[in-house]
Amino acid sequence: MSILKLNKVSYGYIDGSRKRTILDELSYTFEKGKFYSILGPSGSGKTTLLREMVMLQEIHSGEIEVLGHKLSSISQSEAMKLRREWGVLFQMGALFSSLNIKDNIALPLVEYSDLSQEMINEIVAFKISIVGLKPSDANLYPSQISGGMKKKAALARALAMDPKLLFLDEPTSGLDPISAREFDALILKLRDLLGLSIIMVSHDLQSIYDTVDMVAILDDKKVVYEGNLDTISDIENEFIQTFFSGVKKKVL
Ligand code: ADP
Ligand code: MG
Repeated sequence: MSILKLNKVSYGYIDGSRKRTILDELSYTFEKGKFYSILGPSGSGKTTLLREMVMLQEIHSGEIEVLGHKLSSISQSEAMKLRREWGVLFQMGALFSSLNIKDNIALPLVEYSDLSQEMINEIVAFKISIVGLKPSDANLYPSQISGGMKKKAALARALAMDPKLLFLDEPTSGLDPISAREFDALILKLRDLLGLSIIMVSHDLQSIYDTVDMVAILDDKKVVYEGNLDTISDIENEFIQTFFSGVKKKVL
């Protein structure tokens, strides 16, 4: 079953007097229950595509279908409902600096649910524990915690509404290698625990080898490769050759 479908999605913008196309009739189907990574050179439109998938950016042409809803013709009320069914962790996964960890995680619940404060507190405490933060971290502010803890808190917030679909944009960027590997392990654990489907944009090759089932590689405005990583180095594409050269494969 597909969880998200791209059908001839194009995106461009006007730069002075020239029209620049970033995505040119991209089509791709993401299946339920898998861990996907979207790869591609910097500036190839990965974040743009992710923002279109979560309705943060208008679709210029083509269609994106998420959990059976066509985004180009979705009603306001359907869009509201759909937003509760996915979690998003952006690269600048900004926690609100004026709110402590607990209140940051509670935010979607306060905004989208009519649960009692007591219930919200319980859910937040549970999310704090599943991402591996300590109960005592709940009252700390973003400025008081490490980068790794911030990512965990942002992940807990993305999971606040129990989504089945999780979007991650460069989740390990800015983390030291140890925290990055720890974050990968956490994502894998939560995927199994919560039965998540995951779509991740990443540059972190080790992370990609350690976590994903499938990759979709964007280059020159198109998907130039889709599949698993087993035969990736045989693909004749400059970006792929450069990106995947000399990589440590997953040690099983
Ligand atoms: P990636 O995440 O793959 O690095 P992005 O999706 O962030 O790529 O951006 C693709 C390119 O398009 C970038 O060079 C960005 O600056 C440019 N871009 C996207 N939207 C606009 C816009 N509305 N105006 C100008 N430039 C844009
Ligand atoms: Mg990006």
